[in-house]
Amino acid sequence: MEHKCLNCGVASEEVILLSCEYKGELLYVCVKCLPVLIHGSH
Ligand SMILES: [Zn+2]
Repeated sequence: MEHKCLNCGVASEEVILLSCEYKGELLYVCVKCLPVLIHGSH
């Protein structure tokens, strides 16, 4: 199964995706969206 960024929906074939766990669920986020998640949506 292909993983996609939880924020922008980009696939791991296009960018580096990082896996992370949140509330027991495994999520994937790309390197572009990771700073957004860290610093908030603004
Ligand atoms: Zn993304």
